[in-house]
Parts: sequence; structure tokens; C-alpha cells
Amino acid sequence: MYSDVPIGAAPKFVGPNESAPGAELFDPPPFRPGEIVSHIVGGLLNAAVCAIGLIHALRYADLSWTHTAWALCALVTATYLADLASGILHWMFDTWFDETRGAVRRMVLLVREHHIYPQRIFRYGLKQEFGLMSWFGLLGASPAIAASILGAGLPSDVRFALAIAGASYSIELAFSLELHKIGHIFKPGRTIKALQFAHLILSPEHHMKHHSREHDNNYCLVNGWADATLGRIGLFRTLEQIVSTATQARPRENDRRWRLRFGRWVEPDSLSGHHQLRRER
Ligand SMILES: [Zn+2]
Ligand SMILES: [Zn+2]
Repeated sequence: MYSDVPIGAAPKFVGPNESAPGAELFDPPPFRPGEIVSHIVGGLLNAAVCAIGLIHALRYADLSWTHTAWALCALVTATYLADLASGILHWMFDTWFDETRGAVRRMVLLVREHHIYPQRIFRYGLKQEFGLMSWFGLLGASPAIAASILGAGLPSDVRFALAIAGASYSIELAFSLELHKIGHIFKPGRTIKALQFAHLILSPEHHMKHHSREHDNNYCLVNGWADATLGRIGLFRTLEQIVSTATQARPRENDRRWRLRFGRWVEPDSLSGHHQLRRER
């Protein structure tokens, strides 16, 4: 259960293995056997579906300019959609839910800790993320790859592009939490720096704007294209208004409580409402 007892926190960007008072509160519960099976199945299924999609795409591939353009369009579209999906998932866990709900407890603890001690994200490895994120990737990839394989009436260029887009989307979303970690490396190597400069992968310059104040912007984790477009014109605030109207829930209520407890920034305007809400409970 949530406690209000204040914690004398370490500096925000303390290293992943340095002393971080209160960090034990975010220790995730051990994986249940069912979760491990679900991660393994998700990861293998994703790999299999993407491999089938890419092999199928080879049936239509040639080195013409037309097909190169189709492949590029598919890759760019899939990257944008994977970035957007990563942002919406991140926004959901940052904004709603709390750690008392068993089904989402692990992810809620991870994102709450990430706002208090961001660099501790390096304590979580690919095997804890890939299988889970694969399921979200498969949601987008499966229909696209199925349409590519089964859509006999579609032009071959479209079938080629659908297979490339489906596989790219799923792979990028499955690796989005790893790309997020790259956005937390403050002194990356030259190759990573060049990719970040070209806005092809997430950069610290872009992502650190998320780790400030209310942590309510720049949610996207692949490369930030969706933040710079839909995010900038108010996608996340609009979604919050819709959810708040439907449920009467306040955005970031749980995250604000954790930040308050650790002495981190909390928006003053939201604080009065926060205390108001706590008195009502
Ligand atoms: Zn966040
Ligand atoms: Zn981060």
C-alpha cells in the first residue's frame, strides 16, 4: 500500500548501482511462471512472424527504384507508428494506474522508479522487456503481414510494403525500451551520436525533456518523431481529457504522489488539487 512517509532521496541522476534511498520500494515482484512463459512465447512468436513477413517480402523484392521507394516508405511509416505506440504505452503507465493493481504492478513500479531515479533503468535487461513488448508489436504486425500473405487481390507493391512495414513495426516496438536506454547514455559512441543527430534513434536531448517537471511530454521512445508532430499539437493532453471525462480520474495522480514522497518536482497547481483529492479519500 502507498505510504506518505517522506524519503531523503539521492540526486535524481544517481548511477544505476549507486546508493539510492527508497529504491527498494520499486523492487519488482518475482516473475511468476505464467509471466515467464508469456514472455518466451511473445518473443518467439514475434521473431517467427517477422521472419515470415520478411521472407514473404523477398518474393516481391527487386532492386528497382520503385521497390526501393516502397521499402523506404514502409520503413518510415512503420518507424513513425512504432514511435507513436511506444509513446502511448509510456503515457498510459505514467498517467494512469497505480502499483496496487496486480496485472500492471511490475510496469507501474518500473515507470515510477524511472521518474525518481532515471538511470536505474539500466538495471533492467532486454530479456525482461523483449517478450512483453513483442505482444504489442504483434498486434500491429500480424494484420499487416497476414494481409500481405493472404491479400491475393492487392497489387504486389502493396503486399511487399505491408510485409516490410509489419516486420519493421514489430521489431522496433519490441526494442523500444532498449532504444529508450540509449536515450539515457550521456556520452554515446560516434555511431549512436550520428544516428541521434539524424533523429533516427532517441537522443538524450529529446528524451531528457521528458525527465523534467511533471514528466508530461516527449513520451515516445523509438526516435521522438511522434512527439515532434502529434505530441506537439496536443495528442496526449487530448487523450487525458477524454479519459478524465470518462472516468473522473486525475492524470498522473499516482506518479505525483511518488514524486512528492521523494521530494521531486510537483507542479504547484496540481499540488493543491492533489491534497484536496487526498482529503476526500
Ligand atoms: Zn515517463
Ligand atoms: Zn527515460
